[in-house]
Amino acid sequence: MKKIYLSSPTMYGDEQRFVAEAFDTNWVAPLGPNVNAFEKEMVEYTGCGHAAALSAGTAALHLAMKCLNIGPGDVVFSSDLTFAATCNPVTYENGTLVFIDSEYDTWNMDPEALKKAYEKYPNPKAIVMAHLYGTPSKIDELMAIVREHGTPVIEDAAEALSSTYKGRQCGTFGDIGIYSFNGNKIITTSGGGMMVSKNEEYTKFAVFLSTQARDPARYYQHSHIGYNYRMSNVVAGIGRGQLLHLEEHKALKKKIYATYRQAFEDISDIQMNPLNKDGDANCWLSCMTISDGCSVKPDDVMDALAELNIETRPIWKPMHLQPVYADNDFFTADGQQANAARVKGDNGDDWDKSAGGDIFRHGLCLPSDIKNTDEDMDLIIKTVRKVFGK
Ligand SMILES: *Cc1c(COP(=O)(O)O)cnc(C)c1O
Repeated sequence: MKKIYLSSPTMYGDEQRFVAEAFDTNWVAPLGPNVNAFEKEMVEYTGCGHAAALSAGTAALHLAMKCLNIGPGDVVFSSDLTFAATCNPVTYENGTLVFIDSEYDTWNMDPEALKKAYEKYPNPKAIVMAHLYGTPSKIDELMAIVREHGTPVIEDAAEALSSTYKGRQCGTFGDIGIYSFNGNKIITTSGGGMMVSKNEEYTKFAVFLSTQARDPARYYQHSHIGYNYRMSNVVAGIGRGQLLHLEEHKALKKKIYATYRQAFEDISDIQMNPLNKDGDANCWLSCMTISDGCSVKPDDVMDALAELNIETRPIWKPMHLQPVYADNDFFTADGQQANAARVKGDNGDDWDKSAGGDIFRHGLCLPSDIKNTDEDMDLIIKTVRKVFGK
């Protein structure tokens, strides 16, 4: 049976052209012309001053924490409904994570919950906020609150490359932005990431740390602990080729979302994931939630599709429900949610009153691969409709 993917790499000939150049000029080792060119092209595309090409989005987040000097005990606010890579780098540095709930309009950080967190922690060292599934956050509202407190912002735009908010690229609003080129992202280098910033000090420091932090001396001398996080010249060649097709990918992703929205319009128990009205989302993954109380559960939809070899994915499980973060503080719009009630591994069915938990329990990610054909889409839609008795 043919497999229908959630979101897999889509390659062209352009990547091979840049990679071949790397081979021809013997720039296969790390660094080289593709790395510099890819950074320059990302700067041009995003409009964000400076860039550092790295081995992963997670590496970019980690070096962003290093740039902001996150250390033991430093409080860092983080989106709660997101992939663990958004916040894990804080833990690498022994910082203290405080999680902020989502709102329903964009599924991203809730400004009201953020205000509650500031009441208890007026001086966090940094804040990291994600734009989930490519939908821009309520950036103006969040930034207004953050600016009052002067907190440095890391924008996790791993899923939101090419998404815009009021005409400006996501990832360029904070002090530091990061992108991912992992295999299932909107463009891919097989694996890779980029840190961007208006502040060249940050991107320079990131490049320095990513190449083992060698002091400018003739011998190997280190005044900092370094990492091996730099993007290789071959990988950057793939990225340059992919970047040429980014807008095309975005248009196709948006079409997939529009197709689902229309196909499920008559089923009142299905809601598509929100797109921010002040932005233009890249629709990286199309997601749906099912009304509370509906007899159909996300697992029913996922099982029916899996039987036909169609790949789906649950919504990210919120960080406050993760066993590893069970003891961390968590704020909703109503205030602090007691962490004593958090049972390890529990999905929070009975007691969790957060928006993020609600979205997690009622939602799923639909196949959003731009190579899926009209016939594939028809089969997915027909199958989902059948589960709802349509
Ligand atoms: C994919 C992803 C990352 C991590 O990027 P990698 O390149 O896989 O390390 C971080 N944050 C979010 C929200 C992601 O979706």
